[in-house]
Amino acid sequence: MNVLVINCGSSSLKYQLIDSESEKVLAKGLCERIGIEKSAITHTPDGGEKVTTESPMPTHTEAVKLVIEKLTDPEVGVIKSLSEIGAVGHRVVHGGEKFSGSVVITDEVIKAIEECNDLAPLHNPANIIGIHACQEAMPGVPMVGVFDTAFHQTMPKKAYYYGLPLEYYEKYKIRRYGFHGTSHDFVSARAAEILGKKREDLKIIVCHLGNGASISAVMNGKSIDTSMGLTPLEGLIMGTRSGDMDPAIISFIADKEGLTADEVNTILNKKSGVYGLSGGISSDFRDLTAAEDDGNEAAKDTLDTYSYRVAKYIGAYTAAMNGVDVIVYTAGVGENTARVRASVAEYLGYLGTSVDPEKNKLRGEEVILSKDTDKVVTMIVPTNEELAIARETVKLV
Ligand code: ADP
Repeated sequence: MNVLVINCGSSSLKYQLIDSESEKVLAKGLCERIGIEKSAITHTPDGGEKVTTESPMPTHTEAVKLVIEKLTDPEVGVIKSLSEIGAVGHRVVHGGEKFSGSVVITDEVIKAIEECNDLAPLHNPANIIGIHACQEAMPGVPMVGVFDTAFHQTMPKKAYYYGLPLEYYEKYKIRRYGFHGTSHDFVSARAAEILGKKREDLKIIVCHLGNGASISAVMNGKSIDTSMGLTPLEGLIMGTRSGDMDPAIISFIADKEGLTADEVNTILNKKSGVYGLSGGISSDFRDLTAAEDDGNEAAKDTLDTYSYRVAKYIGAYTAAMNGVDVIVYTAGVGENTARVRASVAEYLGYLGTSVDPEKNKLRGEEVILSKDTDKVVTMIVPTNEELAIARETVKLV
């Protein structure tokens, strides 16, 4: 069956068409600037050239229509007609406490996702628009929602409670939810498979280090803690997000700079992280490591601070699980940035693990970085959230 995987942002739509039997990506692409002028679709068929076409997309509905046009195009298309799409899998960011797994999308499900809008005001409305647009363009095709938060719904209260008045949890459901769940699930399962062990028998720490970054503690196959919280702002230092800090800093900056809480929030999301800390060098680790190699001290300090935070979380989650068997790196930075993995390893000798400098030069492939004799395995497992969504979709339809 061909599964169309859809990931809608507020002004973008990413897609992949995956053949679920061979798990091959038949085509993928991106619609950008939806709702703004100069919107364009970039479509790449498997084994073919990338084609970018400028085309008006006032809403996501036009974007979905264009995606179908490209997929069925006589030249750059990969299927003959819409009937070759068996199901659609939608990435949905926030499932609140309502969704602890993927679900077939119905009117009730859409309503329940809408009820989580408050918790992810930038993401969930876009996800729902994407669902409606696909329903309109592909009536009768079954659709599945796969939630970023679902895998972490197994966290116990002690991990998801904040030290706040309980009434805020009761009234507004303010608690830790965690994100990147599809990736933490996929990568921890694959790590166990590579090691020839059952995930149920392992204590795994997954470091999903991308533009957004989070760490999770996966014990006996279940997420028992994760670094992102109510929103994806908490935890690690990220590309442009601050991660953990003293909450009093918000009103302090607001007072000093004459800003509202909302404006400070924007700074914490968009102007902070390695981008802000490096004095604006870049949010991209390729630029930061290049700057460090050129002797830039701010870049070095930023990379040191970033790696230290990762190491501290690994220590914390080792305590949370009373041990660790496997530490896994994944996502853009985790798979590619040797500098970060090497720096984190310097803190973890006490655990009985190591990162081989030669193997650490490898990028973006499945590789065990530690020695056979080490007590704890450190490895890289590339993530594949689209494939994970396609698998979930097939399971449910
Ligand atoms: P997201 O999905 O959150 O947007 P990704 O997982 O794609 O993020 O990670 C993007 C980040 O990965 C980039 O900002 C960059 O810092 C890092 N990255 C990607 N490729 C490389 C590379 N070849 N070398 C070093 N860092 C890389």
